[in-house]
Amino acid sequence: MEIKNTDVLIVGTGASGLFAALHIPRNLRVLMITKGEVKESDSFLAQGGICMLRDEEDYDSFMEDTLKAGHYENRRESVDIMIRSSQGVIRELMGYGVDFAKKDGELDFTREGCHSKPRILFHEDITGEEITSKLLKAVQKLSNVEILEQVTMLDMIEKENTCLGILARTEEGEHLGIQAGYTIFATGGIGGLYQHSTNYPHLTGDALAIAMRHGVELEHIDYIQIHPTTLYSKKPGRRFLISESVRGEGAKLYNAEGERFANEVLPRDVLTAKIREQMEKDGKPFVWLDMTVLGEKVILNHFPHIYERCLEEGYDVTKDWIPVVPAQHYFMGGIHVDRDSKTTMNRLYAVGETSCNGVHGANRLASNSLLESLVFGERAASSIVKNWETENNSAEEFANFLQKTEACVCRQEKDLADTYKQEVLREIERERQAK
Ligand SMILES: Cc1cc2nc3c(=O)[nH]c(=O)nc-3n(C[C@H](O)[C@H](O)[C@H](O)COP(=O)(O)OP(=O)(O)OC[C@H]3O[C@@H](n4cnc5c(N)ncnc54)[C@H](O)[C@@H]3O)c2cc1C
Repeated sequence: MEIKNTDVLIVGTGASGLFAALHIPRNLRVLMITKGEVKESDSFLAQGGICMLRDEEDYDSFMEDTLKAGHYENRRESVDIMIRSSQGVIRELMGYGVDFAKKDGELDFTREGCHSKPRILFHEDITGEEITSKLLKAVQKLSNVEILEQVTMLDMIEKENTCLGILARTEEGEHLGIQAGYTIFATGGIGGLYQHSTNYPHLTGDALAIAMRHGVELEHIDYIQIHPTTLYSKKPGRRFLISESVRGEGAKLYNAEGERFANEVLPRDVLTAKIREQMEKDGKPFVWLDMTVLGEKVILNHFPHIYERCLEEGYDVTKDWIPVVPAQHYFMGGIHVDRDSKTTMNRLYAVGETSCNGVHGANRLASNSLLESLVFGERAASSIVKNWETENNSAEEFANFLQKTEACVCRQEKDLADTYKQEVLREIERERQAK
C-alpha cells in the first residue's frame, strides 16, 4: 500500500477545509482529500449569503437573533467569536476577489428569516459558489498544498487517543495510508443519509461514524435542520433549495386554496412544522410559494439561478406559483469541538458542518453556517500552529497501526459505507429517544 506523509491532512475541500488550508503557514505541507471532485461540496451550493456584523450597534441584535433561532442552546462564547470575527473574514474574502453585491458603491445587505435586520452579504443567488471558487483558486496557487480528488477516508489511524492519520481509498480502489502531524475533519453534513435532502448525496457523515468508533465525543447529533422550502419534484435525488432570502424579500406561502397560512419568515423549524401541518390538512405533498409578488426585476437581478432552474422544471416564477416541500438541509450537531475546533482526540480537529462548536444551538440562523465554517476553519489552523509539535510517530510505527486498521476495514469493506450510514442513523435515533 502506498503511504503518504504530510504535516497537516485536511479531509474535505469545502469552504471550511479550504479556509483552514489558507491559514496554515507555507513552510508546512498540507494534503487535502475529497470524496468527490473539488467542486462537489455543499459550500458550492449555498445560495442566500453570509452574515456580517454591520456595526457595533448590530452586535446585540445579531447575538440575540442567533440565540433565539438556536432556542438559546447555543454556546454564547462561540457565537461571540463568530460575530466578532465576521468583518475580518469578509475583508479577507474580498481580498481573494469575492464579489459581494453592492448598492451605490457600498456593500448591499439582504435579510432572511429570523434576522431582525438586513446583515447578509450575497452574490446573486450563488453566494457559496462565488466564495468557494475564489477560495479554491487561492488554495490551488499554494505550492505547499496538494489536493487529491476521489479519495475517500475509510478510517482513522489512532494510537492511545492520538490521531496519527487515516486510511483512505483512491478512485482506482487502492488503499492509501496518510500519516499526518495533525488531521482536520472538514467532511460537511449528513444529507446523504436521507431520501430528501438539499445536500450532495455523497455527504454521509463518515467522519461521525469514524469518530464514534474511536471514542471521539459527539454533541447534539439529533439536531438536524429541515429547510421549509425546496422545489417539490417526483424525481429522486438532491432537492433544489428555494432560498430563505426569497421569503425574506417578500415571497408568500399559500395553501391549496391559495390562502396564506403562516408568517413566511418564522424560524425554519417552526415554519417547517406549519407547512407539514398544512400539507396534511390539504392532503397534498406540497404547498405553494408565490414569488411573482417580488416583481420581475427583483427576481431576475437577485434570484437569476432560481429563476433558471425553476424554468427548467416548467415554472416561470415571474408568473407561476411553485410547489415547495420541506427537506433535510443542515446538521447543527457533530463532532464536539472547543473554541479552537479541537476534538477530544489529540492532534484531531473538526471544522464546518461536521463539527459542533455550539454556534447554532438547536437550530441554525440562516446564513450563519458559511461564516461559522470560515471562522472556525481559521481557528483550527491557528491552533495547530500554536500547538505545533514536531515530535512525530515514526514511519514504522504508523505502518504497523495502519496494517492493523486495514485488516479490520478489509473484513467489512464491501458494506462499510452502508454500515457507517446505519451507525450514524442509529446514534441519531438513540440520542433523540434519550431526550
Ligand atoms: C442548497 C444549500 C444552500 C445553502 N445555503 C447557505 C447559505 O446561503 N448560507 C450559509 O451560510 N450556508 C448555506 N448552506 C450551508 C453551507 O453551504 C454549509 O453548511 C457549508 O458550506 C459546509 O461547509 P463544509 O466545508 O463544512 O462542508 P462541504 O462544503 O459540504 O464540504 C465537505 C467536503 O468533505 C468531503 N468528504 C465528505 N466525506 C468524505 C470522506 N469520507 N472522505 C473524503 N472526503 C470527504 C466532501 O467531498 C467535500 O469536499 C447551504 C447548504 C445547501 C446544501
